Amino acid sequence: MWYFNSPLIAFGDDALSHLEQIQGRRAFIVTDHFIAQSPLLAKVEERLKRAGLPYTVFADVEPEPALETVRRCAAAMTAEGPDWIIGLGGGSCMDAAKAAWLLYERPEVDPAGINPMETFGLRAKARLISIPTTSGTGSEVTWATVLTDTQEKRKLGLASRELLSDIAIVDPALVMSLPPSLTAFTGLDALTHAVESYASMWANDFADGVCLKAAQLVFAYLPRAVADGSDVEAREKMHNAATLAGLGLGNSQAALAHALGHSVGALFRVPHGRAVSVCLPYTIEYTSNAGLGRYLDLVRFVGFSAQDETEAGRVLSGAIRGLMRQIGQPERLADCDVPEAEFRAQLEALCDRAELDTCLVVARRIPERDELRRLFLCAYDGTPVDF
Ligand code: NAD
Repeated sequence: MWYFNSPLIAFGDDALSHLEQIQGRRAFIVTDHFIAQSPLLAKVEERLKRAGLPYTVFADVEPEPALETVRRCAAAMTAEGPDWIIGLGGGSCMDAAKAAWLLYERPEVDPAGINPMETFGLRAKARLISIPTTSGTGSEVTWATVLTDTQEKRKLGLASRELLSDIAIVDPALVMSLPPSLTAFTGLDALTHAVESYASMWANDFADGVCLKAAQLVFAYLPRAVADGSDVEAREKMHNAATLAGLGLGNSQAALAHALGHSVGALFRVPHGRAVSVCLPYTIEYTSNAGLGRYLDLVRFVGFSAQDETEAGRVLSGAIRGLMRQIGQPERLADCDVPEAEFRAQLEALCDRAELDTCLVVARRIPERDELRRLFLCAYDGTPVDF
């Protein structure tokens, strides 16, 4: 049996006003310093005041949040005793909110051990609202939380169906302030979710539709959102695209580009969206070179043409590279502040982490160790994959 998981999604103009309908005792907002000092937090606070809901703010989440941060956040939650948790921010804040909420409900759990096989009994104390302020990760609608083990230098992709938000609020007014570079690489993150989830071994009819639509929206609107951040239509379409791609991710799972990108992100602190999207064209080529993938329908839906999977892979990887050039994003890891000597020195560590990554299991073509090395090197140098 399969399930399609989704929170209630409030989207579009003034979606944030949904907060005024929330009833409860106390909210706990999990966010970061930037958002706390920006008008974004004030917008949420205003709505909570109208709802008559007292709240506390934890604003200490860093990008790619560490296990330690989540533990501190959970301790602050426990001191306040909220019945609503609000993750407000990019994927980092929303993920930190999910994991801290789990520890608030179940303090004895080791966050690194969060897994889909266990029942945690969440919602005994609180429910979760996720409010994205980037258009990328889709965390507002997935049941995953990605944390960083700073000691081991590993990103932990952790999941439990219970971590799905109760409510996702997808309001484009919250992304109008995203600068061009963040808009670009978070938007490419959404595209990576859409493409990988569509091509995943766990692909299914329900997730297919949202993946196709998300990919189409990104190709159509990301260049506009990057070129002119005040383009309201492009912002709204990109915000919807990210959530749709998140539904794809949450219901059929990302694959090889994520396994590579998570490794790069953990060892070299390349932001998530950039790390996974730079790897994407290479992993598409690797997959389609064997005649595998599910790129043909996707390529046609987005508006390109191809005759078979291998050609579709070439067309799609070329289109993604073209999009990256158009929005000023790097096409290879060498251009992502990753020093060459260090990259080569860490090649085995990169492969170790990619091999352990949970995303690898749904890849249509899973590389052996030597192919994995070669894939990393291609992604570093910018050499198209011919194997
Ligand atoms: P982020 O949350 O790390 O934020 C990046 C920066 O953008 C921060 O400095 C933040 O303050 C700033 N920012 C956020 N909103 C802004 C706005 N409206 N205007 C200006 N600046 C703003 O970035 P992200 O790409 O959204 O999230 C990345 C994290 O999400 C990674 O840890 C990644 O692994 C994780 N992730 C999780 C899932 C999931 O399903 N749980 C999926 C993909 C990625």
